[in-house]
Amino acid sequence: MTEQAHPPWDASYTTGVPAPWDTGRPQPAFARLAAEGRLTGRVLDAGCGTGENALLAASYGAEVTGIDVAPTAIARARAKASERGLTARFEVADALRLGSLSVTADTVIDSGLFHVFGDDDRARYAGSLAAVLRPAGVCYLMCFSDRQPGTWGPRRVRAQELRAAFSDGWAVESITASTFDINPVNGTKQVQAWLAAIRRT
Ligand code: SAH
Repeated sequence: MTEQAHPPWDASYTTGVPAPWDTGRPQPAFARLAAEGRLTGRVLDAGCGTGENALLAASYGAEVTGIDVAPTAIARARAKASERGLTARFEVADALRLGSLSVTADTVIDSGLFHVFGDDDRARYAGSLAAVLRPAGVCYLMCFSDRQPGTWGPRRVRAQELRAAFSDGWAVESITASTFDINPVNGTKQVQAWLAAIRRT
């Protein structure tokens, strides 16, 4: 898959109205992880969007790289870093081909990326992450949960599906019920999520 294969994602950032996930703030679940000192060292934010979670980690002193297939999102993330006086690297790249980046990470952030992938790409994604996350490094992954009622939004993920995607070369240390903050959709401001801590073995 090439970066050109993702034009629909860039369109999420060019409508003039922020996408539901693009709240202009870090996700509270990642803010808690940062406050607990878990987003440290070399941090890679996969599918970073406009960079709020990456910039949060940078504000705690992490050496951050954020990647996304949407050039408009990456341009916004760079602008925010410069406005806020924070140092972080943002690059247009495909999370399914991270091995081609010259990056080694101690910690990975995934806020809303895993749940966009179809079945085949889930396995590719786990392999791609393993190419850049050092052994014993942790991926903190938050995805839409099957506990979220209705059909609006991305595909729901069951905890067992996370365990299956990360069964080979990973230890799923925890899967906790959490929530995503979103820009209100039909009055809804929060949706049910799973927050997983997945260690590379
Ligand atoms: N993490 C951000 C964005 C979540 S939305 C946040 O919390 O706000 C999912 C993001 O994944 C979008 O920005 C989309 O452009 C990006 N994305 C989708 N497929 C991707 C891929 N293969 N590689 C990298 N980014 C991808």
